[in-house]
Amino acid sequence: MIIDDVKKICVVGAGNMGHQIALLAAIRGYRVGCADVSEEQLKKAEEFAAGYLPGRVAKGKLTEEQAGQARDNLYFTTDLTEAAGDADYVIEAATEKLDLKKMIFEDLDRITPAHALLATNSSFIVSSLVAGVTGRPEKICNMHFFNPALVMKCVEVVKGPHTSEETAELAMELSRRLGKEPVKLHKEIYGFLVNRILSAINNEALFLLDTGVASEKDIDSAVVNALGHPLGPFRLQDLTGIDLTYHVMMERYRETEDPADKPSPTVVEKYVKGEWGRKTGRGFYDYSEE
Ligand code: NAD
Repeated sequence: MIIDDVKKICVVGAGNMGHQIALLAAIRGYRVGCADVSEEQLKKAEEFAAGYLPGRVAKGKLTEEQAGQARDNLYFTTDLTEAAGDADYVIEAATEKLDLKKMIFEDLDRITPAHALLATNSSFIVSSLVAGVTGRPEKICNMHFFNPALVMKCVEVVKGPHTSEETAELAMELSRRLGKEPVKLHKEIYGFLVNRILSAINNEALFLLDTGVASEKDIDSAVVNALGHPLGPFRLQDLTGIDLTYHVMMERYRETEDPADKPSPTVVEKYVKGEWGRKTGRGFYDYSEE
């Protein structure tokens, strides 16, 4: 398959990441079926698209016609077969749980046409952990977008030992067609490039908070104003979800059994209390007024 053969994209999961990846692909001219098991999540995704597109027209970023085209290109469904049955390319962006992703890849392998490439947007699960449940491991790779996916330019394309060069290159090309600046990892590594660097910063920020050296507000302020980052580590975790931070650290701890990799006491406390960041109205900061 070559990039011009990709006409229809299926996005699995309409959460934080999936709804924006789906909308982005629709704006870029692809037919997109976005599937989720949650009707509520699909409704939210549809409402977001309905609000976002006129907003882009008002700002002069899209013409009425382009917005209309994007709206026509995109549909939401709870039926994975409807979304993936005729897809040339699938981007899986469902909940970060290995067993769930394995089930989804098994289903996708059964449902999608034989030529379809299957990518996972997982932040930490390398595609070799899911490729084995399919009969097409060479057509599987990681394609890791950043939050918010409509805005962030980077995509990490990760080539596993099973991934063919053609698959990795097609993922790079598709990312470019979606307006991104992809980077290619020639081998799998836990956390890829960006999250490895980010984890080092977050761990240090949590250490400084937990040991009472400074407040989250001041740590964020220092990182923004001294290092030039657009967001401090606590604001960023509130955006990406403290539940994600917790799961990621637990996953790493399970892998390494190194107590230094355990989630920090503050992360555990916030996870247990359900204070997961913006999506729950409270995380390191309070968003209940927004
Ligand atoms: P999320 O919890 O916001 O959304 C996940 C969605 O998956 C939910 O809507 C859920 O209903 C749906 N889902 C669960 N089981 C499903 C199934 N069987 N079929 C279809 N949909 C199903 O999570 P998210 O933050 O969007 O993360 C999704 C993926 O993207 C994860 O693998 C995560 O690691 C990765 N990711 C997240 C971020 C981030 O900043 N949040 C950034 C990059 C990558």
